Amino acid sequence: MKLFEFEKHFPDEESCRERFRQQRIREGVVCPKCGCVHHYWKSDKQMFQCKECGCRQSLRAHTVMHGSKLPFRYWFVAMHLLTATKHSFSAAEIQRQLGHRRYQPIWELVHKLRSIMGKRDDKYTLRGNIEIDEGFFTTEIPADEKEQPLKRGAGSQAKTKVLVIAESTEVENPKKGRKPKSVGHIKMVVIPNQKASTIDAIASKVIDPASSLVSDDTKSHVNFKDMFTEHKSLVVDPKDIGKVLPWVHIAISNAKTQFADLYHGVKREFLQEYLNEFCYKFNRRYFGEDLFDRLLMIGASYRSDFEHRTYG
Ligand SMILES: [Zn+2]
Repeated sequence: MKLFEFEKHFPDEESCRERFRQQRIREGVVCPKCGCVHHYWKSDKQMFQCKECGCRQSLRAHTVMHGSKLPFRYWFVAMHLLTATKHSFSAAEIQRQLGHRRYQPIWELVHKLRSIMGKRDDKYTLRGNIEIDEGFFTTEIPADEKEQPLKRGAGSQAKTKVLVIAESTEVENPKKGRKPKSVGHIKMVVIPNQKASTIDAIASKVIDPASSLVSDDTKSHVNFKDMFTEHKSLVVDPKDIGKVLPWVHIAISNAKTQFADLYHGVKREFLQEYLNEFCYKFNRRYFGEDLFDRLLMIGASYRSDFEHRTYG
């Protein structure tokens, strides 16, 4: 959404609150006690009341704003900033834009939005031709590991392992200078290690078993041939990685660049939230102006798992 449109539609707290109420009605308000989907709106109390059992719930209950005391307009401005450009904004920048004194509540707000982006994408199963590989993201070294000597390479305390999966179909006769494959949806999941059992558990959950996989030839991927219709396990010369696994590597490199530009260090325990946002926007790269509405839609229908966590 363009800035002028945002200002026109959401000039104040009341307009944001009313839009959120409309969105909740559209998504369907469900009674937490009896499951009834018919409610009255009690405007004097600003609550929904179940027509069956009389149970009341606030406008924010069971949504991304559950338990939040921040103004509705803060949430709307944050949703606008996160969806207005191809890139993104850090919580520190959003805090600055809002002119809010404290960092922690805004940081929580932004992470809650990232958390529901992940929840929404969890509903989607990747299928067809699939690239799969592991990436190593730079993260801050946890305090209890700072004493140990720094290990090099993939096992370094300053790296966090991420399983990266992309729907990727070969293009017939690609034009000169274009990619040999076209990309669909992607997923990125933080993993504690590269054991086959760790990777198999995620792959079986997020990839349709009828898919054809391509990956490099490592011990992490030995079971794919039994789990999926096809698995091409290739010994990849690093200079050919762009031909064999182009999209997982483009996704990894774009995400790394974006994180380095935007954030002053990423903590390992929060990396998944940043990946959620990156994938959510990548997977909706053609949505354009509709992205704000989509985020508002999931904001009204999902409660975040990101609660009671503190920064640093
Ligand atoms: Zn009820």
